[in-house]
Amino acid sequence: MAHPTKYIFVTGGVVSSLGKGLAAASLGTLLEHRGLDVLIQKFDPYLNVDPGTMSPYQHGEVYVLADGAETDLDLGHYERFTNCECSSLNNITSGQVFENVIKNERSGKYLGKTVQFIPHCTDIIKDRIREVTLKSDADVIITEIGGTTGDIEGHLFLEALRQFSLEVGRDNVCFIHVTLLPYIAAAGEIKTKPTQQSVAKLREIGIVPDIIVCRTEHDLDEDNRAKIAMFCNVEAKNVVAFRDVKHTIYECPLDLRRDKLDRLVSDRLGLESETPDLEQWRHFVDRVINPTHEVTIAVVGKYIELQDAYKSIYESLVHAGAKHDTRVNVIRVDAGQIEEEGPATQLKDVDGILIPGGFGDRGTEGKIRSAQFARENGVPYFGICLGMQIATIEFARNVCKLDGATSTEFDKNTPHPVISLQEEQENVTTMGASMRLGSSESVVYKDTKAFELYGEESITERHRHRYEFNPAYREQIESAGLKISSVSADHGLVEIVEIQNHPFYIGAQFHPEFQSKPNKPHPIFAGFVEAALAKKNS
Ligand code: GLN
Repeated sequence: MAHPTKYIFVTGGVVSSLGKGLAAASLGTLLEHRGLDVLIQKFDPYLNVDPGTMSPYQHGEVYVLADGAETDLDLGHYERFTNCECSSLNNITSGQVFENVIKNERSGKYLGKTVQFIPHCTDIIKDRIREVTLKSDADVIITEIGGTTGDIEGHLFLEALRQFSLEVGRDNVCFIHVTLLPYIAAAGEIKTKPTQQSVAKLREIGIVPDIIVCRTEHDLDEDNRAKIAMFCNVEAKNVVAFRDVKHTIYECPLDLRRDKLDRLVSDRLGLESETPDLEQWRHFVDRVINPTHEVTIAVVGKYIELQDAYKSIYESLVHAGAKHDTRVNVIRVDAGQIEEEGPATQLKDVDGILIPGGFGDRGTEGKIRSAQFARENGVPYFGICLGMQIATIEFARNVCKLDGATSTEFDKNTPHPVISLQEEQENVTTMGASMRLGSSESVVYKDTKAFELYGEESITERHRHRYEFNPAYREQIESAGLKISSVSADHGLVEIVEIQNHPFYIGAQFHPEFQSKPNKPHPIFAGFVEAALAKKNS
């Protein structure tokens, strides 16, 4: 008989930004290396239905799934740290819960009953977990609960999990609580009190954690372990230290392995699994920490001061760097500053220029000048989504001499709309509704750089954009030297542009950064870093 699906719920306490997402992702890595099939998902207590319309300042990157769902960036960690492929079912928010309850109420589904948080909202959450279970073959479903225990918003989710754990049987559920052990320098001590209190909060709701994962800057000694165990009602071996990693987030699974988090979970859930072989992972981490070579890449964007705005891009550069035994130093360049100073000051010594995705016209002129600088000076260029559109605009203006060429996103009355909306999109005005979102298939033409990189004629990539390369300009732009090397399989929309007599000049309308993994870097990123290294050594 097939085993029942096992559930791991990861909650957080004391403070936010604890690295709960990384803890969940790293546990996923370890369990997968034990031979288990893992799915990881996230419950976000905020009221937005999805993070698609939230500003990067609020939220960091919007991570796009294969099915087009716009989700929290933690799902990016899940997909990078494991082989799981998430779907829109795997990111539920309070906004979605309430939207569903109100829809049900309006359509008379509750048969005149008083509609309440319990059971109506909690039912929606539990039903979602069941739906995910039915649609997945995973042995283990790990669910991270966003926010901090004790927050009003999170209460509903925790209550739902409490009920759920009784319904599926407590032996099928493992609660992991991630907390912070602050270090008080003046006393030279680690403090366990906030952890005790946060666990007490969970117990108030009726959840007794099975394992406590303690974020700590210092080693956790046996006395503190015993203290946490006693106050939190767990065995001392179930208190796991999660130290600050020194070099890269990919060390996290190795760190959690030290206290055998994966074995504790596996034993707790009665899972048959093997000791993990982390050889390849370790090798990847070594390459990230101690590479032979080094390159400098400028990322020219408008949210460069935000650590998380281009998260997946930075991670993809790390993966590609490891492949070429190269440290990729990223300098984040403000496109606005290039508008003021010109590109030479900041870009003259870099080995590659990357322009990421973006919306709105702030900073676009600076990005256009950066693309021109890369094209004219033989600097490897990689434009992603908006970055591809920028490359097209620059080429149209400066090579094809189409004065005033731009995207209709920036100027509706431009004489040369080289980037524009396709007809069927023009009437859609609802926020988010007109975007081309998620995975679709494209054809890569032979005898192109793109084909050399992918080695395949058919590729599947994820999209998140409204505007497209305008086919009316295709012939003119292509005959001047900006070659179209890939188009969408269904409508022939332009997917990749490239300049062939340039060391590396590629623009992709899609987002390759959502499909790169540690030991499987995305081919365009890998090619870009290789070209940057060649430039540096030339
Ligand atoms: N703003 C552009 C568009 O909507 C590019 C979007 C992006 O870079 N993700 O087409």
